[in-house]
Amino acid sequence: TAPRTDVVRRAAATRPLDPAALPPAGHFIDGIFRDSPDADRLEVVDPTSEEVITRVVQGTTADVDLAVTAAQRARAGWARLTPKERSELLHAVADRIAQHHDVLVALETANTGKPVSVARDDVDGTIDTFRFMAGALRATTSLAAGDYAKDHLSVILREPLGVVGVVTPWNYPLLMAAWKVAPILAAGNTVVVKPSEQTPLTTLKLAELVADLLPAGVFNVVTGLGPVVGEALAAHPDIDMIALTGSVGSGRAVARAAAESLKRVHLELGGKAPVVVFEDADLDLAATSLRAASFYNSGQECGAACRVLVHESVADAFVERLVAQVRELVVGEPAAGEDVEVGPLVSRAHYDRVLGHLERAVAEGARVAVGGGAADGTGFFVEPTVLVDVPASAACTVEEIFGPVVTLETFTDEEEAVERANGVRLGLSASVWTNDARRSHAVAARLDAGTVWVNSHLVLANEVPWGGFKGSGYGRDLSIYALDDYSRTKHVMHNHGR
Ligand code: NAD
Repeated sequence: TAPRTDVVRRAAATRPLDPAALPPAGHFIDGIFRDSPDADRLEVVDPTSEEVITRVVQGTTADVDLAVTAAQRARAGWARLTPKERSELLHAVADRIAQHHDVLVALETANTGKPVSVARDDVDGTIDTFRFMAGALRATTSLAAGDYAKDHLSVILREPLGVVGVVTPWNYPLLMAAWKVAPILAAGNTVVVKPSEQTPLTTLKLAELVADLLPAGVFNVVTGLGPVVGEALAAHPDIDMIALTGSVGSGRAVARAAAESLKRVHLELGGKAPVVVFEDADLDLAATSLRAASFYNSGQECGAACRVLVHESVADAFVERLVAQVRELVVGEPAAGEDVEVGPLVSRAHYDRVLGHLERAVAEGARVAVGGGAADGTGFFVEPTVLVDVPASAACTVEEIFGPVVTLETFTDEEEAVERANGVRLGLSASVWTNDARRSHAVAARLDAGTVWVNSHLVLANEVPWGGFKGSGYGRDLSIYALDDYSRTKHVMHNHGR
């Protein structure tokens, strides 16, 4: 279908990114940036203007070796710090990020196309993750001690694992780095991060900002491609754990590469969140909530409310409300105003993928209630879309689209709703909409998802864990559960009898 006109609000004047905002383009290893004129480069593209912002170094396995050696050298010193000392350094990192809030927002907006409000949330969330972990590490370092066998005192210790490798996605480049790096450092490990090859700028900027705060080698960044740098980290014998946020396919590749060295694996993978709307739900609340929860970050969100299952008796009334909300969404360039809610998709390849999903959905019998295609002009914009009359077997109901697209199916009773909600391989998050407390408890208990919201969707906090079931991976981000994941438990038993 031909691109629709007048969908995208354009900025009155384009303000190019200040070149001084850009981080150095090399890897950050052992406290310094390393670039080489001979290295292969990766183009970093602005998805709003489709222009190349900069070219960063394409890492090799030799770069990974250098970074791992630096992280290994730094680990004993970092692990020896007292919890108070580590905590103070993480608070200093948070303060430094806060001082450079605007430049991080500008870089993230340029590199991902996300609306300014979303980029601000990302930077605020990043600061709060570092602050939370800086506090939590002091409260959770020692575990129960006591006499559990006669005349034997047990001391149960939590130790760092050593060096942790991290691979991050493009949808929340800085925030996903923070969700890993903050608890990893808080738990006393050192880290090597590989940001997405599409969005490396804010991770490199973070390295630049904290270079004088953290001891050399504690935090390292190697830019490059997943199958090269990511797999080298996963396979590396001197890396003790690998954590990835990304797609299911990358999760499999990382788990396979990690198998030989038997390192710990932490996977935050895709989602296909079912949104179960019962006949007694507050339909206005559900529709207004989904305006944000389905289309936040242009729907490029692993927890997005993307698959609505609505009771047949209220389906028409709900579609009417949801479509009204979606029609009001402000689609635009990040520089077109504070009220822009939906930006372009991250890349040409992803834009083609999402449009392919839409074409296939229509071919499989879905009907477009609003949106449905590409938007006009420069930039990878796709119209916010609601698909209705979606056959239960259609690919768009089971595969992650990862764009501004909501599908809508109907059900007849609670049993069917639960069965259909659980009928996909992914199990990251879900929501239940009802005013019946018995039903909300019963359904939440039966949903195969790491997070279940009741009469809400996509609300997160650093105190609560985030992570999936089934094909969405294993391990938990955020909260003290993340600190657990990135540490190991040791029991030391002292005989004090005679
Ligand atoms: P992706 O899997 O393409 O890339 C993620 C990262 O993995 C990138 O850094 C990439 O270079 C790397 N990678 C790719 N192949 C690899 C390999 N063979 N070995 C090691 N690393 C490899 O994912 P994406 O497109 O950047 O991000 C979107 C995906 O991330 C979606 O599926 C989304 O659901 C998921 N995601 C999940 C969460 C969560 O918390 N569960 C959060 C954000 C994104």
